[in-house]
Amino acid sequence: MKFGTKVIHAGIEPDPTTGAIMTPIFQTSTYVQESVGKHKGYEYARTQNPTRHALEANLSALENGKHAICFSSGLAAMDAIFKTQNPGDEILCTNDLYGGSYRLATKVFERFGLKSTFVDMYDAANIEQYLTEKTKLIWIETPTNPMLNIVDIKAITAIANAKGITSCVDNTFASPYLQNPLDLGATMVTHSATKYIGGHSDVIHGCVITSDDKIAAELRFLQNAAGAVPGPMDCFLILRGIKTLHLRVQRACENARTIAEQLLVHPKVSKVYYPGFESHPGHQIAKKQMKDFGGMVSFDLHDNTLEAADVILSNTKLFSLAESLGGVESLIGHPATMTHASIPKEERLKVGLTDSLIRLSIGVEDVDDLVADLNVALDS
Ligand SMILES: *Cc1c(COP(=O)(O)O)cnc(C)c1O
Repeated sequence: MKFGTKVIHAGIEPDPTTGAIMTPIFQTSTYVQESVGKHKGYEYARTQNPTRHALEANLSALENGKHAICFSSGLAAMDAIFKTQNPGDEILCTNDLYGGSYRLATKVFERFGLKSTFVDMYDAANIEQYLTEKTKLIWIETPTNPMLNIVDIKAITAIANAKGITSCVDNTFASPYLQNPLDLGATMVTHSATKYIGGHSDVIHGCVITSDDKIAAELRFLQNAAGAVPGPMDCFLILRGIKTLHLRVQRACENARTIAEQLLVHPKVSKVYYPGFESHPGHQIAKKQMKDFGGMVSFDLHDNTLEAADVILSNTKLFSLAESLGGVESLIGHPATMTHASIPKEERLKVGLTDSLIRLSIGVEDVDDLVADLNVALDS
C-alpha cells in the first residue's frame, strides 16, 4: 500500500459488532470477563483499548515499523524511551533540540543518573569523539526546532548501528509523510502526534514506532507500568486527523516554499531558515531523506531586538501567536520566550536562536492571504 492509501486503511477494520466504518471510541475503563481468566483480550483499559490498538496499527504502517506504542503526549513517549535506559548510561542528543525534550533530559533524567550530552550532529563524523563505552542511545531531531537544521539520519544511525547503540529520531517536524527514519537505519522513531499527525490543534498525543521486538516489549511494559496512556477520544481524534495527513502536509510544504521565498526578499529580514533553499547547509541531505522540505520556516531580523520581533508577532491576523505547530491553521511563534524559554540564553545563542528569531508553522490556508498577512506585519 502507498502512503495515501495507508493513512486511510492501514490497521482499520469495520467494527465487528455493528459494522461501523469508523473505529468507535471505546470509552470504558474495564471489560467484563466470562469466567476467571476468560476474556476477549481486553482486561483493563490502561493495558488494552481497541481505539488505541487501531491507532497503533495505523501508525506502525505509516512509519514502516512492526510496533507502535502510544502515549498521552510526545514528552510521555520520550519519557518512556529514556526509562528503557539505566543509571550511568549516556545519551547523545542533537544540540538544537525541542525545549521540552531538553528539559526532560536535563532536569528530570539527570537526577536519576542518566547523562545527556548535546552535540552538533550536522557533520556525522563529529559525533564519534563523544561516544563512550557508556553511550547507549543516540537521540536525533531533524529538521530541528526552531533552526531547521538537518541531521543525516542514515550517516548517524550507521555509526550507531556499527557500535550496537540504539537510536531514536524525533520525527515530529517532518511527519511520517515526508520522512521515515526506520527505513534509514534508526531503531525507533517518535512523534509528538499533537503536531502534524493530529493536525487540527485539538489533542495532545505521542507515539513510538519500532521494528525491534525487544524494545517494543519494553515500551509496551512501560506504557502499562507507568500508565501515561492516551484516552480513547484522543486516539479517535488522531485517527481522524491522520486520514488527511498527506494532503495537509503537501499543501503546507507548497505554502512554506512560497512564504520562504517572499521573506527572503523583504528588506527587514536578515536570514530565512528553510531547508528547501539550495543555500541551506542541509539542503542536499534533506533532499535525500525527505519527500519535501516541510511546513516550518524561521526567520531573523536585521534589528536583532525583542522589540522588533514583537512588532511583527503582534501584528499578524491570520498567523496566530501561539506555541505548537503542524495544525491546519498558520501559527507564528517567538522561540526565545515561548517554546525555548527553558533553555539558558548562552545555549540558545550558540545555535543562533536570537531574541529576534521568529518561527512560522505554515498551515493549509490560501497562500496569497498568508503572504499578505505577513507583509502587513513586517511593514508595521
Ligand atoms: C511538541 C514537541 C514535542 C513534545 O510533544 P508534546 O505532545 O507537546 O508532549 C517533542 N518534540 C518536538 C519536536 C515537538 O515539536
